[in-house]
Amino acid sequence: MASGLLDPITALSGQHHAIMRLDALAANPPQSIVLEGGDADERFAAALWWAMRLNCESEQKPCDACPACRQIRDRAFSDLMVFDGREDLIKVEPIREARPIWGQPPHGDGYRVTILAEAQRLMTESANALLKSLEEPRPGNVFVLCTPQRERLLETLVSRSFVVTLSWPNAQGNDADIEEWCAAMVGFWKSGRGWFPRTATKGSVDADLAFRVLLGMQRVLRDAMSGSGGTVAADMAAHLARPGCDVSTSPLARRRTP
Ligand SMILES: [Zn+2]
Repeated sequence: MASGLLDPITALSGQHHAIMRLDALAANPPQSIVLEGGDADERFAAALWWAMRLNCESEQKPCDACPACRQIRDRAFSDLMVFDGREDLIKVEPIREARPIWGQPPHGDGYRVTILAEAQRLMTESANALLKSLEEPRPGNVFVLCTPQRERLLETLVSRSFVVTLSWPNAQGNDADIEEWCAAMVGFWKSGRGWFPRTATKGSVDADLAFRVLLGMQRVLRDAMSGSGGTVAADMAAHLARPGCDVSTSPLARRRTP
């Protein structure tokens, strides 16, 4: 997936609300911002947008055309640092190596922006090392921690940050693998069958997959309610609309009371 090259302006077309908030914050940027909600690409795009907003050389910020905006978009800006948890855990060594840099003013006239993409993947040691830098604020250094929900970060990091929430869940559909899990969930809701053999395979469901399925089901439910979406949402909508449908008598609800 080419998310590494996404154009932040295009990727944020559905996030006017969060962008307006960031724009309002730019006059006096908080040292640390938590960007939650949206999806991983939107969060990262919003972080890049923030870096552009703080470093753009044009009057209409961000212009997406000046050298600073272009370099930020290409991840080639001298005052942009990215620690990317989308690929792997964020380990402590690179965070420790960056700490002296955070102790210095930025190279340019704007701000040094450090993005921690999917910051819930900071290892505990990494999060603590980062916290030390947040506790010793240096002018001109700002941080952005992207995460699905603030609850997934160390509380001490969140309490030192300004939280901006992107629209969530977003307007796009589910990935094919998640849509398949959702189809199985809807099938189970209708019939009471097929779910447990699926999840009983040892190691087949980890926390990350469970979270993605949960988000996927939120999309399916939203689509079912609004009459949009694909076949899974249509299936759910048809089942919800049948006479006498009561969610409290569905197999999912019955499972709670043995
Ligand atoms: Zn610009």
